[in-house]
Amino acid sequence: MGNDKNVGVKKEKGIRKLTDRISFWKAKSQADEEERHSPKPKPKLKKIKDKTKQPKNKKFQVIEPQRKANEAKKKEARIKVEPQRKAKEAKIEAQRKAKEAKIVAQRKAKKAKIVAQRKAKEAKKKEARIKVEAQRKAKEEAKKKEEEAKKKEEEAKRTYEDELEEQLSEEEITGFQLEKTDMDKMCNRVCEMIAGYENEGTLQSELWKKLKLSSRDGSRLALKLERMGMITREKILEKQRWTYKLIIKKIPISTKSIEGAPCLTCPVQSKCSIDGEISPKTCQWIEDWVLIELKNK
Ligand code: SF4
Repeated sequence: MGNDKNVGVKKEKGIRKLTDRISFWKAKSQADEEERHSPKPKPKLKKIKDKTKQPKNKKFQVIEPQRKANEAKKKEARIKVEPQRKAKEAKIEAQRKAKEAKIVAQRKAKKAKIVAQRKAKEAKKKEARIKVEAQRKAKEEAKKKEEEAKKKEEEAKRTYEDELEEQLSEEEITGFQLEKTDMDKMCNRVCEMIAGYENEGTLQSELWKKLKLSSRDGSRLALKLERMGMITREKILEKQRWTYKLIIKKIPISTKSIEGAPCLTCPVQSKCSIDGEISPKTCQWIEDWVLIELKNK
């Protein structure tokens, strides 16, 4: 705005100067013309000099006040317009400032909203983390308690046999021998006794009483029979004490029981097989022998 004003003022000054010069030269040329037509007095250098010093003529004197009046008029008009222009500028400036303030406020509000959203999100995440952590701790605590309870239960369940199993090696268990005793016969006898209780099984302590065996020997014998795959041991709580029930798994075949089997003297024994043409599945001799054996028992 300031630049436009300066340009206007400069332009106006230039026009004014030009107008002055044109007026001056017009007046001068008119004066020269008049002088040419009038009788020439002897030129006096001094007078000419005076003339050049005072170029004013009548016409110039007429135009000048008019020009000044015009200028005064223009100046007055400018003075009149100036407050309006200033008011307009002030209004525009105020509008611009208001717009800027509005934009700044909008930006601030937007920023505050983003910050609030971010904080809410972070708070939510933190809350979720705390929740997860609490759940994890509770889970760990429950697991720990469960493990401790299990351990206590296991300790309470611990029997003399469990300790023996820990103390003895596998060779010591499977190679167990009772002094002055045929262990094959002893094992068969114990298995036959256990088999008498069928799937129900019997308490090992009762069995050792019948066989007059100590708890230590009886327990080692039970472990041996279990390793041989003849019996299974089931841990049970009996009269507030944990002990084992012995159940038969495989009835031993005594050599005596197969002495009269027809297969030992069978003429077609070499051609006999489970899935062959000659097979125990269809053999009448073995069927008759089994029936007789069962009757004898
Ligand atoms: S099953 Fe019968 S056929 Fe086979 S070997 Fe025994 S007796 Fe002989």
